[in-house]
Amino acid sequence: MNSPKYATSCVERFLEYVKIDTQSCEDSDAYPSTSTQLDLLGRLREELLKLGVEDAAMDEHGYVFATLPATSDKPDVPVIGFLAHVDTSPEVSGAGVRAIVHQDYDGRDLVLPDDPSAVISVQENPLLAEQIGNDIITASGTTLLGADNKAGVAEIMGAAEYLLAHPEIPHGPIRIGFTPDEEVGGGTEYFDVERFGAYCAYTMDGESLGELQVETFSADSITATFHGFNTHPGFAKGKMVNAIKVAADFIAGLPRDGLSPETTAGYEGFVHPNMVEASVERTTVKLLVRDFNASKLKEMEQLVATIASQAVAAHPGSRVEIEVQESYRNMKAVLDHHADVVENAREAIRRTGLEPSIEPIRGGTDGSRLSFMGLPTPNIFAGEHNFHSRFEWISTSDMHKAVEVIIELCRIWEEKTS
Ligand SMILES: [Zn+2]
Repeated sequence: MNSPKYATSCVERFLEYVKIDTQSCEDSDAYPSTSTQLDLLGRLREELLKLGVEDAAMDEHGYVFATLPATSDKPDVPVIGFLAHVDTSPEVSGAGVRAIVHQDYDGRDLVLPDDPSAVISVQENPLLAEQIGNDIITASGTTLLGADNKAGVAEIMGAAEYLLAHPEIPHGPIRIGFTPDEEVGGGTEYFDVERFGAYCAYTMDGESLGELQVETFSADSITATFHGFNTHPGFAKGKMVNAIKVAADFIAGLPRDGLSPETTAGYEGFVHPNMVEASVERTTVKLLVRDFNASKLKEMEQLVATIASQAVAAHPGSRVEIEVQESYRNMKAVLDHHADVVENAREAIRRTGLEPSIEPIRGGTDGSRLSFMGLPTPNIFAGEHNFHSRFEWISTSDMHKAVEVIIELCRIWEEKTS
């Protein structure tokens, strides 16, 4: 393995952070949704204080913010921030994670010891072929690893440690933020943009080496509630209106050859029914609506309403209520007004010898919301692969590259300030 340009303890830190179970939870009224996230957040605050970051603090919601003071004499270097979330996906257990370092990877399939059927194959992970000779970290087969997003956390900590030890590297004020509950859509709920006080930020939560993400879906959710009429089924002739059958017609009427997750990729959007709660009297269908273009979102919502009223028309006595809720918007609309935020990230990636690869995210990030809250926030690779899965893997060489990008980015913002 090539030795990293900036030697830091990011890998050692990562191997410690994954031991702490920080799984977030969909149906919790608490914030953060699980208190175990506070264990890692509290630890990060302690570690920052130990590194000499005097203002490292955790607020009442668990957010940990800290500042690396400027080392540059220039008074006007913009404050930039780096963000990562500490929670892991509710879909796969993150308890008792046993990380395995596969040293000097030889190009073969990775067999995970605690479940012999768990194999990370080269065929399904073609990017592994580029990792020969590097160290790969996986979980042991029964849990996720938590590289999403503890890799980003460790990389930011590694960069902070390096910058603090090397005050000769000129940079402006750097803000650091560690956040809870990203995986359950709550990562920005109490994020105080004003108190964070940065001109822009970067989430370190992308996948492959060189990735820079400046476009996300725009997203809404729809709740369609179909009302019928229930009576005793033995005496229902001419009276019963079965909401389940109305909803079934509605679902059958949704687009199949396109506009669905199963049939779309790239810049194509979709309508996705993902939950049904059914009874004769009342059946509720929840749908996700996604597109890169917010006006296309409106068109799809119109289409859903039309299909719903057609289903209702075929069942006299039924009716439907449709409620649309905004989830998040494509960050590109904001980033287009902040060309410097994107350009400097591209240049930082180039300086590490990588070609920036700019792909749209078919999903949202905390940055989608933060960008609209006044903090333009693209997403940079952290090296995570197969996230939300027992087959998560990450290369330590990619982690060192991500640290390098952070440090170069800090330099570039300083260089470009007169
Ligand atoms: Zn993530």
